[in-house]
Amino acid sequence: MRIVSEDRKDIELRKRIVPAACVFMPEHIISIIADHADDGLDEDKETMGLLIGRFFRDDNGTYAIIDGIATAGLIADSSKVRFEKETMEDLFDQLVLKEDQCVVGWYHSHLDVGCFMSPTDISTQKGIFGDECGFALVIDPVRKELDVFDNDPDGPKHVDMVIIDND
Ligand SMILES: [Zn+2]
Repeated sequence: MRIVSEDRKDIELRKRIVPAACVFMPEHIISIIADHADDGLDEDKETMGLLIGRFFRDDNGTYAIIDGIATAGLIADSSKVRFEKETMEDLFDQLVLKEDQCVVGWYHSHLDVGCFMSPTDISTQKGIFGDECGFALVIDPVRKELDVFDNDPDGPKHVDMVIIDND
């Protein structure tokens, strides 16, 4: 599955409001992700989706402002999750992006094992983003933990996320 085009337009230069943060997440979207993870937990299943947003860059590198999520039918159990092939079309239907929007990352849940990037997660990340910038959000609805990682060539590296009031 490769849904992110190689051809990223020039990323707009815009100084970030919190210098240490790489991901700016509206509060209502993190609620959607948390609710999705809770719904999955009720069925003892992991959940996942794509993070839609906009990339910007400044002297500290590339960062993302999240605008929404997209998800589709999932094949999941308590330790793995993937998009169901038959519903990929739904997913693409949701990906009607505005001019400056793109898939800036993805999220998935871990059930009571904490937040980290497993070898499968790393290959999923590579499958979606290749070597391009893309952020991976991992949420554990049991432990109430959340972490975000970037696409560092040396392996996933934690990045800071800031929750913003609205967008
Ligand atoms: Zn995982």
